[in-house]
Amino acid sequence: MKHVRFRDPNGATRRGRWHDDGTVSFGGESFDRDEVTVLPPCEPSKVVCVGRNYAAHADERDEALPDRPLLFLKPPNAVAAHGDTVRLPAGKERVEHECELAAVIGEQCRHVDADEAESVVAGYTCLLDVSNRDDQDRETNWVRGKAFDGAAPIGPVLADPEHVPDDAAVETYVDGSRRQRGTLDQLIFSVPELVAEITTYMTLEPGDVVSTGTPAGVAPLADGDEVRVRVEGVGSLVNGVEREGNA
Ligand code: MN
Repeated sequence: MKHVRFRDPNGATRRGRWHDDGTVSFGGESFDRDEVTVLPPCEPSKVVCVGRNYAAHADERDEALPDRPLLFLKPPNAVAAHGDTVRLPAGKERVEHECELAAVIGEQCRHVDADEAESVVAGYTCLLDVSNRDDQDRETNWVRGKAFDGAAPIGPVLADPEHVPDDAAVETYVDGSRRQRGTLDQLIFSVPELVAEITTYMTLEPGDVVSTGTPAGVAPLADGDEVRVRVEGVGSLVNGVEREGNA
């Protein structure tokens, strides 16, 4: 099943179902997708992100492979929805796309063993890790680089785990041209390993997001682009791009 949060034509916020025929439904009512506003599929207290989790991406950034997951955070203000406009921070030249599979946590958890981690994952969605390299490359904690408003579009759906194959493709398209592609069997640290490592240090809450890193092919976004993150089995997260400060 694919779950979607949306605002219906009367303004009510619903947690309903996404259908592949272009409709969404809740409580016996069905709507065309363009009659509703798609919202982020969850409301995370934090987005826990993972850097350098595909060897080919670490390579293109000229960075060594980590011996444990490289973790960083995006706060709730970074979350944006399918259809929202990604705003490139004013004055930043190199703001790049990173397509990622994101796991959404279903229950409060801590000290989860890797072999039990699947039980705390509610499902999967797409995440666009919008990355401001101008600042990221000048700072250690990546707050300016990764945590700015709107830097984490997610969605459009929360797909039950069985939809996503172990070798699912994770891709970015810009204006219809493919820019990035990797497959989940290339992850250095798997979702269960990431959940185990993260919950050694912190409690994950229902709706929290664990984003699993990006494959090779990152490149700058430009004003007017349409960027699409596709995860096989989930679907496509689509966002326009606008430079901040444009009238
Ligand atoms: Mn990333």
